[in-house]
Amino acid sequence: MSVSELASAILESPTLRLNEEARLLRERGEPVIHLGIGEPKNRTPITAILSSASKLSQGDVKYCPSDGLPSLKKAIIRYTEEAYDKAVAPENVIVSSGAKQALFNILYTILNPQDEVVILAPYWVSYPEMVKMVYGVPVIVTPEDGSFHPRMADIERAVGSSTKAMIVNSPNNPSGVVYSEEFIARIVDFCERRKIYLIMDDIYHKLVFDGRTAPPCYRFTTKDVEDSRLIVVNGIAKLYGMTGFRIGWCVAPRKIVAVMTNVQAQTTSCASPVMQAGAEGALLGLQSVVEALRLTIQNNRDVAMRELSSFNGVKTHRPDGTFYCLPDFRAYRSDSVELSDFLLKKALVVTVPGREFGMEGHLRLSFAGTVKDVTEGIARIKWALDPTSPNDIYIGDKRLIRDWV
Ligand code: PMP
Repeated sequence: MSVSELASAILESPTLRLNEEARLLRERGEPVIHLGIGEPKNRTPITAILSSASKLSQGDVKYCPSDGLPSLKKAIIRYTEEAYDKAVAPENVIVSSGAKQALFNILYTILNPQDEVVILAPYWVSYPEMVKMVYGVPVIVTPEDGSFHPRMADIERAVGSSTKAMIVNSPNNPSGVVYSEEFIARIVDFCERRKIYLIMDDIYHKLVFDGRTAPPCYRFTTKDVEDSRLIVVNGIAKLYGMTGFRIGWCVAPRKIVAVMTNVQAQTTSCASPVMQAGAEGALLGLQSVVEALRLTIQNNRDVAMRELSSFNGVKTHRPDGTFYCLPDFRAYRSDSVELSDFLLKKALVVTVPGREFGMEGHLRLSFAGTVKDVTEGIARIKWALDPTSPNDIYIGDKRLIRDWV
């Protein structure tokens, strides 16, 4: 069977693969704890449900404009004004089936074959694969060992005549780091001077802890959206925990949005109007749901940090945002894929290997689940790895004895 070289070179999504493995284990009755998952357990906001339900009950479910329902775009314009103090026009907004599709369409729209895209490690797993899918070349910039914050000097060294764009994700999946105001200011200035598109993946921008905020890129430009190189991606998946609605969007110069609209029209036609109505319901509904979610996740973060600090060998950065942390497990094992497999087999805990995010020796742990999942999951990891911990543990109703360390 013949498949294209390009398509067969695209890596499987490790997080979706792990979800499937966890599901199969659970189906077999195994008491798996999933610390790999990238979605909170909250209920969908009622305003979203009612809004989607009303579209369905009216039977108003036909094709809609490729760039999104005008009423949702209006809500997004309001959101952009409130969250970023930035006025944009409907022609600057396009709605897609998730932030993922928005990112892919942006890259498809701006890249020529062999154009380079600078990606900052640790990075979200899909960025390099998406760049490769449109015949671009990902250029990875790695921070100093022990840090998750990129350095401007390293970025400047990585940028050359083929650099077309840079992707910045802050708060960052997988590290939870929020990049500093000074860094965002410098990166905006740098990209505008060098005429490089700055794609800001802001999907976690409201999920920030301890009274901090994530500095928005728009604060550091005097240019109008039309003349700027800034492209901002957002969505409802993390903001409201509405992952399965698959609605995301991007705000960009209208020339980019116009081409993206053609790309979308020729591929998916439009995002589902039922789900777009749900997104609109969430955006126009009570925003206290966002704060409730943020507080729950912040509490989970505190629990995760407390549990991880009881390990001798684990080095952890306290996340400023998102629902992930990326502890350094090199004191136990340097190969993160092996370590993640070992933990799944021995302790029935799902983790995501740091190698997938360009950070070997680390594991990404999600604290989006329940406090019980977080506490018990980390306790199991400690049992499996730390020789100073008691060598027996109950997993489900089975008492297990550690006989390997
Ligand atoms: N960007 C980042 C950094 C993410 O973590 C995710 C989801 N895991 C996305 C984009 C995709 O979001 P959506 O579900 O809206 O496609």
